[in-house]
Amino acid sequence: MVGMSDALRHRATQPRRVDAESEPLRLLHVHAHPDDESSKGAATTAKYVAEGVKVVVATCTGGERGSILNPKLDSPENAAAIATLRAAEMQRAAAILGIDQVWLGFEDSGLPEGIRCRTCHRAASPSKTWTRPPGPWSG
Ligand SMILES: [Zn+2]
Repeated sequence: MVGMSDALRHRATQPRRVDAESEPLRLLHVHAHPDDESSKGAATTAKYVAEGVKVVVATCTGGERGSILNPKLDSPENAAAIATLRAAEMQRAAAILGIDQVWLGFEDSGLPEGIRCRTCHRAASPSKTWTRPPGPWSG
């Protein structure tokens, strides 16, 4: 496993990827839940961050209806505090990945069909946007 100092040193030595105006490229990821940024493409995100791309993750919901899959962490206290725990995990993941993150404020399992993502586009002004293909989201 690469240590944090190795990752930071690697970032510092990578060429910066820029757009036609010599501004750093900006990549926007849109995910339904906190933790999706870690389970869906985190290595690719880390690669782009290392290359100087500004990555913003827009998290649609708070993940407050999520399940606790690790039996060691599955307790009534953690279940009651799941939104707080997931927010803390998101903050830590953002720091490790070197990304910016915005919450879009939708309720987990209540994501409206066909949401428009003006908020996250304002936050990121992306050169590229990654998200799921059209169709129902589980959020
Ligand atoms: Zn998810």
